[in-house]
Amino acid sequence: MTTQLVVEGELSSVNPATLEVVGSVPVTEPGDVAALVAEAAEAQEAWGESSFGERRSLLLRVAHTLLGRMDDITATVTAETGKPIVESFTTELLLAVEQLLWLASHAGRVLAPERLRYGIPYLAHKRAHVVYEPLGVLGIISPWNFPFSIPLTQAAMAVAAGNAVVLKPSELTPLSGEWVARTFAEAGAPDGLVRVAQGAGETGAALGGAPGVAKLIFTGSGVTGRRILAAAAELLRPVVLELGSKDPMLVFEDADLRRAVDGALWSSFANCGQVCVGVERIYVARELHDRFVTELAQRAGELKIGLGEDPETELGPLISEQQRAKVEDLVSEAKERGAEAVVGGRRPKLDLPGWFYEPTVLTGGDPAARIEREEVFGPVVTVRAFDREDEAVQLANESSFGLGASVWTRDADRARRVASQIDAGMVWTNDLGYSYGAGPAPWGGVKQSGFGRTHGKHGLYECSRIKLVDSDAGRFPVPWWYPYGPRALDGFKGVVEVLHGDAKLRALWTHRRGLAHLARRYVRL
Ligand code: NAD
Repeated sequence: MTTQLVVEGELSSVNPATLEVVGSVPVTEPGDVAALVAEAAEAQEAWGESSFGERRSLLLRVAHTLLGRMDDITATVTAETGKPIVESFTTELLLAVEQLLWLASHAGRVLAPERLRYGIPYLAHKRAHVVYEPLGVLGIISPWNFPFSIPLTQAAMAVAAGNAVVLKPSELTPLSGEWVARTFAEAGAPDGLVRVAQGAGETGAALGGAPGVAKLIFTGSGVTGRRILAAAAELLRPVVLELGSKDPMLVFEDADLRRAVDGALWSSFANCGQVCVGVERIYVARELHDRFVTELAQRAGELKIGLGEDPETELGPLISEQQRAKVEDLVSEAKERGAEAVVGGRRPKLDLPGWFYEPTVLTGGDPAARIEREEVFGPVVTVRAFDREDEAVQLANESSFGLGASVWTRDADRARRVASQIDAGMVWTNDLGYSYGAGPAPWGGVKQSGFGRTHGKHGLYECSRIKLVDSDAGRFPVPWWYPYGPRALDGFKGVVEVLHGDAKLRALWTHRRGLAHLARRYVRL
């Protein structure tokens, strides 16, 4: 049984805790995607000319609409993903509102034309600006793990920069994706500004290749990311890739143990471990290791597993049977290679048919086991001891991924030093992950975690055509234009040496004839 159902052109969404159908949406056939892009393009023509005041006003109205609809939206997200309702408020709704408000207040300033000061004497008369123009229609392809906040914030960013959007939500969470377009529509966005194409990979691929898509913002697995990049390469279409990870957590001997355990617990098991920046590898200073493992295992064993709708629930199900099978496969291989499940490592006994799995803490075993390298995307974390700081850094960096990482210590100098050596897009100290909901913070990874940035000013730049606009009254001759000749060459040698060499006076004398030639030829007003 899978959690995806397409029957007669309708895509059903299934609750992964109860396996009941939550609702359905019509599938967008791949051949119909281009028409959605064309509608978005039409809306974008006018929207691209809108003032930042108008964009600000729309984003504030979207935030207002979200607040008015928060119970409906969070209920949909929890029903489709099984995630605890508390998380639907914190990691889906609250952070979407924060991003909207930040964009509403700051997009105009970030994207205002910037005067360039060249700092070069012979360009002193220039007036040049960098301007940030909309790209057109952006294709946003999203995963199911944050089915509302990821596409909503990316769409808001695109719209703030004057673009229109066609969103392809995950086929596992189509109703949450529907809410993205709906909140824009209910907030009075121009018709067509945010369109949704529903369906699986074929619909996503059709969006990736549709004429008129200026850029793709993809969030999902590395496997799909590679496919999208390969298809985009043929079209020379730019792509932002927000991919998976295997985030490390480094706990030093002076860390606040209680806080580190709390952080590890939340980051490893929130959203049932299905978080791109969820902690999957914990490295603990040897003297703290055993206490850390004992406390983490005990607290993990106490997490309340159940229906996401119950406010007491702390851990819901995995999204699908396939996802649970993958987790089980990785855990069983790790155990075969000597790892011990200090807690968890099996399905819980519940009166629910869904894809539940116990929060699991693994220690020891073969460091070359698959679980040490592959993204688990489930409620499983491994813990190992380290002896030295450089060893901890090396362990953290021994991964093909590099999205987030966290350092747990009371020593601020050590935290900065370690952060500077970790290969990741984001490094947090005594905390983790929170910056996804903080407007100015850029989001994105290195290595196999992808490239490009969403959020913050860097996210707005990704949604913009960065153009240099020079305005020159045309009164000053340009010295390096034709004609060339020996005296011009001598003159330019003089220019280089006088401006940038050590012996300026000597250069002035040596190249005086060439310089005089340039002066005569070009500095005529
Ligand atoms: P996925 O790659 O299976 O699917 C993502 C989206 O791509 C879906 O909408 C899917 O329908 C679509 N798709 C599939 N094939 C396609 C194709 N050929 N062309 C175009 N689109 C296609 O990923 P998932 O399972 O939905 O999401 C989980 C992954 O996302 C994890 O690896 C997780 O770490 C990652 N993720 C990363 C971030 C981040 O910010 N870096 C955030 C959330 C999730």
